[in-house]
Amino acid sequence: MRRLPFTLLAASLLLASGIVSAATAIPATAVKTAEQLRDRALHDDTGYRIVASLTTEVGARLAGSEADQRARDWAVAKFRALGYDKVYTEAVTYPKWVRRSEHAAIVAPFPQPLVVTALGYSPGTPAGGLSAQVVKFDSLDALKAADPASVKGRIVYVGYRMQRAKDGHGYGMGSAVRTAGPVIAAAKGAAGYLLRSAGTDAHERIAHTGVTGFRDPSKAIPAAALSNPDADQLERALAYGKPVTVKLDLDCGLDGEYTGANVIGEITGRKHPEQVVAIGGHLDSWDLGTGAIDDGAGVAIAMAAGKLIGDLPQRPDRTIRVIAFANEEMGLWGSRAYADKHAAEVGQFQLGTDSDFGAGPVWRMSASVKPDARAAIAQIANVLAPLGVAYDAKRPGGGGSDLSQMHAKGMAALSLTQDGTKYFDWHHTANDTLDKVDPQELAQNVAVYAAFSYMAAQADGDFGSAPGAFAKDGTNE
Ligand SMILES: [Zn+2]
Repeated sequence: MRRLPFTLLAASLLLASGIVSAATAIPATAVKTAEQLRDRALHDDTGYRIVASLTTEVGARLAGSEADQRARDWAVAKFRALGYDKVYTEAVTYPKWVRRSEHAAIVAPFPQPLVVTALGYSPGTPAGGLSAQVVKFDSLDALKAADPASVKGRIVYVGYRMQRAKDGHGYGMGSAVRTAGPVIAAAKGAAGYLLRSAGTDAHERIAHTGVTGFRDPSKAIPAAALSNPDADQLERALAYGKPVTVKLDLDCGLDGEYTGANVIGEITGRKHPEQVVAIGGHLDSWDLGTGAIDDGAGVAIAMAAGKLIGDLPQRPDRTIRVIAFANEEMGLWGSRAYADKHAAEVGQFQLGTDSDFGAGPVWRMSASVKPDARAAIAQIANVLAPLGVAYDAKRPGGGGSDLSQMHAKGMAALSLTQDGTKYFDWHHTANDTLDKVDPQELAQNVAVYAAFSYMAAQADGDFGSAPGAFAKDGTNE
């Protein structure tokens, strides 16, 4: 941003008249306390104990399942045990999807079973299973370009191979093959859909589940992911150039509506209780693992950060609000319900972001804030720098998966990017279990969240949240 050459007098006149506001700043005492919080968090195992508690006592918690209620009860009890001032829930209603069983096999020319997992919102196959010839595409674009006649009545298979990356950008296309692919195949008349799992584990015979883009059940077709080695096997069979028939036998589908809830805990602000720093993660998980990295870790990071701030001798100036979101996995249901309910109060949201990218260390921070808050963001960056977090001032901040919806309503937001190099080896699989969480790396995340949340809560001034403030391009600069 370019600064105009105001004289001191003119600037103070404008300030007094309210035409311009002073730059947001974080007082030196708050910076010092944030540094102490950061250093304390690095030697504190609260975060790890929370994710161990959730994954052991509740385990997998598919949205709408019997474990959904147990997870909410767990979160309410955990917030209370951690000393939060206020604990409450807000209802979230969504279609319930259930998985009962899933099998697949090559029927011809080389009969043998395949390891698959059904995808979210997939309907089941007819009794006795669905057998059809497989038609293979290398990419989503190839499927988009396909003549419907080549697809009709067949099982479409897309063999896109997701690439490993620290920032996880390979998941952009990997998840598109899973969400958009089945919808495109169904529109062209396909009988079923298979993809090579959107995962970076090339050698694990474990399939990665995840949601599809099916929203109209009348247009949905059975859809499943093959493990990477099974995708290799299917491709070898296809390479013989003879018709390959696969049988899908999925027992899954929609089962009415369900009302769950976002679970919220607050450390109440001393001076401005109505103004909130919002952090969180999502409480639901897929059903195959125990939801340790997705997203028990995120819930634990936010809960532990709030707890450490609550342990200070004095409450922060503003409220720290920790949100454990409902049903992120099947389409951001808790996130969207939250943003719809609280859109009118978006100006009260000081700054926010949630954690939903595993338990690897945070290595990059970016922000979408008003220009006059950039100096305060740089102050936060200075406190996070010793943790190995680099500030990228050119990149916007998105607020994480769930708080992205509040950011879209106008909430000033950070992005705290975690190292996702290994994340997609385990993401949405039976291998998403607690052993993948490194206690020290989790503590680094807690240190980041505790320090930034506290500084945002103590800032003199705001970060630019207002209705529609960041609607256009993710930043108002
Ligand atoms: Zn997640």
